[in-house]
Amino acid sequence: MNNLFDLTGKVAIVTGANTGLGAGMALGLADAGADLVLVSRLGSSKTKEEVKKKGRKALDVIADLSTTSPIQMIVERALLEFGKIDILVNNAGIIRRAPAIEFSERDWDEVMSLNSKTVFFFSQAVAKDMMKRKYRKIINISSLLAFQGGILVPSYAASKGAVAQLTKALANEWASCGINVNAIAPGYMATDNTKPLREDSVRSKSILDRIPAGRWGTPDDLKGAIVFLASSASDYMNGHVLVVDGGWMAR
Ligand code: NAD
Repeated sequence: MNNLFDLTGKVAIVTGANTGLGAGMALGLADAGADLVLVSRLGSSKTKEEVKKKGRKALDVIADLSTTSPIQMIVERALLEFGKIDILVNNAGIIRRAPAIEFSERDWDEVMSLNSKTVFFFSQAVAKDMMKRKYRKIINISSLLAFQGGILVPSYAASKGAVAQLTKALANEWASCGINVNAIAPGYMATDNTKPLREDSVRSKSILDRIPAGRWGTPDDLKGAIVFLASSASDYMNGHVLVVDGGWMAR
């Protein structure tokens, strides 16, 4: 069983690796043996330190993924440092909250660009290299709002629905090339993304009341799912959106 989940010698790029779920997943991949390319807007020095404490290598790449322009540079830096990319985790994402009737074009475009356009073009850039190699896993971070509309977050819901569909579209094309493309749809997790919800006592209570597990998720709760989808244990999974939500969707 051990070998199925072993990532020793594998190289993983994680976007948005400085905080929250991205940091948690990077550490989970490091625990399983992977070396890491940590991508973020402000630098991931804390995550890098923790990865190195686990005996793994880490490259910290600062890049603003609100446009696609830094993607090629990141891929080249990863290849220069490690010679290959085995795993891509498209995690970086933002959310904007406002009623649909007054939602701005800027809040629409910025969310759609980072949350879905960058996911597609980052996957495309990495897949070009992966096709030359044997080990190939792409994991996109979607959301429960791929299945539900959410409240006051129209561009976020649209962008995460797009991530789920994109995951299936890429899987249909690339499964035959040996690239597993799958997604994780996290439930309500305690990170910066959900701080306003947790600070709103009414919303916070109504969310908690609906989670069968009776608590918000944490970045550690994604470690098992990310290692599973990044490892050989999921070799026959393609285009799947794996919900990790304490039971929210079962309700
Ligand atoms: P977070 O705000 O802590 O993390 C967002 C990450 O994206 C940060 O690391 C940030 O540096 C990075 N980022 C933002 N803008 C960027 C840019 N322009 N360029 C590069 N990186 C940028 O929140 P989180 O909850 O950890 O979110 C991580 C992912 O998980 C997001 O895609 C989010 O939509 C998704 N998600 C979160 C939840 C939740 O409940 N927290 C639920 C479902 C999905």
